Amino acid sequence: MGNFVRPLIALLLSELLILLPVAPSAQAPAPQPAPRTRPRKPAGDTCRTLHCYLSKSYLDLFELSPHLEFSASEYAAEKQALEEGRKSCVGTFKARAKEYGQQLDNQQKQLKLVSAKANDDERHNLHCDIQSLRAKKTEAEMLANHGIPTAYDNMQAKLQLIQQWPAERRQILAQIADGSYNKRRWGDTKDIGFREITPGQEKDIKAGQDIIKEMKMRGLMPHDLDNKEIQNYVDSVAQRVAQHSDLHIPLHVTVLDSKEINAFALPGGNLFVERGLLGAADDESELAGVIGHEIAHDVARHSHKMMVRATIAGIFFQTAEIAALVLTGGVASIGLAYALEYGFSGLGLLLDLRLLGVSREYELEADQLGIQYAWNSGYDTSGFIRFFDKIATKEGYARGMSWFRTHPPFYQRMVDAEREIMFLPKKPDTIVQTSEFEQMKKTLAPLTAQADKDQKDKPSLLMPEKGCPEPQKVEFKPGESIDRICSNGGLH
Ligand SMILES: [Zn+2]
Repeated sequence: MGNFVRPLIALLLSELLILLPVAPSAQAPAPQPAPRTRPRKPAGDTCRTLHCYLSKSYLDLFELSPHLEFSASEYAAEKQALEEGRKSCVGTFKARAKEYGQQLDNQQKQLKLVSAKANDDERHNLHCDIQSLRAKKTEAEMLANHGIPTAYDNMQAKLQLIQQWPAERRQILAQIADGSYNKRRWGDTKDIGFREITPGQEKDIKAGQDIIKEMKMRGLMPHDLDNKEIQNYVDSVAQRVAQHSDLHIPLHVTVLDSKEINAFALPGGNLFVERGLLGAADDESELAGVIGHEIAHDVARHSHKMMVRATIAGIFFQTAEIAALVLTGGVASIGLAYALEYGFSGLGLLLDLRLLGVSREYELEADQLGIQYAWNSGYDTSGFIRFFDKIATKEGYARGMSWFRTHPPFYQRMVDAEREIMFLPKKPDTIVQTSEFEQMKKTLAPLTAQADKDQKDKPSLLMPEKGCPEPQKVEFKPGESIDRICSNGGLH
């Protein structure tokens, strides 16, 4: 079992999962009385209700919240409204899934009845109906179980941020004023590159090679993206970040041809960036933020630590069992098949919940170190927050499913990231965008279009009958609010 299990354990902590949930921190300090010199609300902020602010970005809220004055009862009411909204929206989609399930039963009974004497057309139409209902039922279940709760978690986090950030911020400013911020964990940022975060990075090189070999053998590793220009570009950004990090071993960078919005580091300096992530990033500082986070996992040897912990806890078997289904090409359920077709290579689905508690600690550490590395490389550190926010807000419904396994306190993650950014000395002329990034996006666009087309034409487990009308999907358009999906069931 050893050989079989090791790569899986490595995966548990190596996926990008900048979005992995983190344990909630102790309650933030009680808000201080507002100073009289509270600055005016910035021009251009047209929100009048608390709810309106929930659709703003985390970065905007860090700026805006110190200027906002809502009462405790307004916060409580909004919190309550969100809880009720989630319940009702999840209920809507659960009911819908059930309804599709009943229609599915009917059509299958019908098929059985007419099967012997049906002509080809009738049979074809029934097959189309059945596969369409299956897809719709699975989609409704996915939204009820993953997409909608994620969207509401994200809004709750923003609500919490509006309420608690002003007090957090005062505390951070006080720590900066009295110099105590220098004593934080890894506060010795002048020594990046000369610090030892976790000794023994070089011991992971062999393990990393073995894991990659085994993943390839078992079909877990998507193919390399067949484009030298993009490979070289991502390599150059990653090498730049690595040179300004605490990584002491060579970094190998590979772009994978997969639409998953993901990046992961395997032990021993092996960074994998998936094509979907390049598509989702809008500037080089976002990409650098994600890469910094992944490099930090290798620097701190999180894979190694996780393997040790998992061995002690003796929790190999179940993960391996689930993995076997994916590895051998079998699927546990139509739900999993659907998730895979939705854009996951399946890696994210292997997460063992019992390891989440541990990996949360590691995620926070990788966030902190990753931000330091992006900063030390000259990048705009807010790129990390912008990317995180975008994925949670815009992609959360569908493509972020595997990332949000439990109720994720986005709040702590965002606040911790912003705190670290505030502690880092300001640098002039930080890099946000480069012409090389823009060129990469131009090269990428036709490759993505072609890959999407190829996938559509491919025979699929979910849609085995050819020539059927496309089932109506609940489309989530970037920037759209969950309110609309919840109010009319997502149908346009
Ligand atoms: Zn991570």
